[in-house]
Amino acid sequence: MIKYVSTRGSQDIKTAAQAVIQGISEDKGLYVPTDIPALPFKPEEMQGKTYQDMAAKVISSFFTDYTEEEMQACINGAYDSKFEEKEIAPIVKGGEAYFLELYHGKTAAFKDMALSILPYLLTTAMKKEKEEKKICILTATSGDTGKAALEGFADVAGTEIIVFYPNQGVSQVQERQMVTQEGANTHVFAINGNFDDAQTGVKKIFNDSNFAAELAAMNCKLSSANSINIGRLVPQVAYYVYTYVKFLEKGVLKSGEKMNVVVPTGNFGNILAAYYAREMGIPIGKLICASNENKVLTDFINTGCYDIRRDFYLTNSPSMDILISSNLERLLYHLSGGNAAEIKDLMESLDREKVYQVSDKIKSGLVDFYGGYATVAETAAVIGEMYQKNGYLMDTHTAVAYKVYEDYVGETGDKTPTVIAATASAYKFADSVASAIGLGEEKDGFAYVKALHEKTGVRVPAGLKGLEQKEIRHTGVLDIDQLQTAVKDCLK
Ligand SMILES: *Cc1c(COP(=O)(O)O)cnc(C)c1O
Repeated sequence: MIKYVSTRGSQDIKTAAQAVIQGISEDKGLYVPTDIPALPFKPEEMQGKTYQDMAAKVISSFFTDYTEEEMQACINGAYDSKFEEKEIAPIVKGGEAYFLELYHGKTAAFKDMALSILPYLLTTAMKKEKEEKKICILTATSGDTGKAALEGFADVAGTEIIVFYPNQGVSQVQERQMVTQEGANTHVFAINGNFDDAQTGVKKIFNDSNFAAELAAMNCKLSSANSINIGRLVPQVAYYVYTYVKFLEKGVLKSGEKMNVVVPTGNFGNILAAYYAREMGIPIGKLICASNENKVLTDFINTGCYDIRRDFYLTNSPSMDILISSNLERLLYHLSGGNAAEIKDLMESLDREKVYQVSDKIKSGLVDFYGGYATVAETAAVIGEMYQKNGYLMDTHTAVAYKVYEDYVGETGDKTPTVIAATASAYKFADSVASAIGLGEEKDGFAYVKALHEKTGVRVPAGLKGLEQKEIRHTGVLDIDQLQTAVKDCLK
């Protein structure tokens, strides 16, 4: 059975179900599998199988304490007609690259891929563990996780969901999606700060044992819907496995040949999932990590030094406006050979000094990664070029990835077939995308949605239609030091 341990080394050993409920370890570390399982099948055997078939097998091989029936029920509940494409994650060619479109779920961003299933994994875990407390999901969001978590958990029995997003740090469409959320158990707050402030605030609440005791007295327990929760991360591994199988099916690759993967990266969850797929045995060459102007990761991959003593930028790819990429901690743990003491030191150094330098051993493990970044102007330029040349519409995050892919190919000449994680619908960032393809000024984000649709004919995701007419239900704005009180008020 695969168990889950903390990256920071306390003797905290959990089953998958327990780790999903707990979210983050009490020692502040993240749960990682003791072993990354090998693929439970040969990729060529899976040709012709559905997304659901592959996801069930991949997730089950990490979550060995879930029975086959339990996992199948989770899969069936998650990956159904709420996805607007039957294939769940279609692969579409644009220029020389293949785009893995991960945004056809309810909230039009890739976060739906994992957050459609997380509520099922969590409620199943609660049954298995006979957990009778109400689970309160705390979520810091750079824009997309919040909405996807709200949709996933709205009116799920035994849960309450609270989302914190950076005031002025998300697009107008993203904000409206969240503040119009229905459901008796949903709570949404803007916070005066950026995503890192929100994430740090939420982590602080998780690590406050007095607060946990207070909540326990109210019969509540905290958990997380951020990618710090292993239940968010593991379902994401499935779509990289799926892509490889589709590449075999389409004849893009022959059995055993490698593909490269490009991921627009913020909290490092999505690209870590690709790394897990590779460790399972999927032939992946380079893992290309694309950042916007908040390029801590580009610098880290190139130098081994993680340094957040720098300016923070608000860009046109706001879901990646992040300096502290939480899931990198998991990669470092694996690359260090499971040296939790070393990881604890690094993370404490980041807390204290805002910088750390990894050992040569970890640094040598980074050779499989390539780091690059795109500026706001470069991002807009590639959206325009791609649309003009190929008629393919990219959102700003996907465009960051595409630009870094172009740079990578220019630098290395590497012709390996490449998949780019397309992480959001262009309509979520309609203002930036519309101006990138040469449309004029509109009065607000919703008018841009309309203009973009008229120009391109690309379908508007159902969840974004009529958004401007929906009732606004959440209006709270908090300072960073008010999060705890707000959580308590929501749970009263
Ligand atoms: C969350 C998000 C990302 C970054 O993904 P991570 O897993 O946090 O690295 C990229 N693009 C979009 C559209 C997102 O919502």
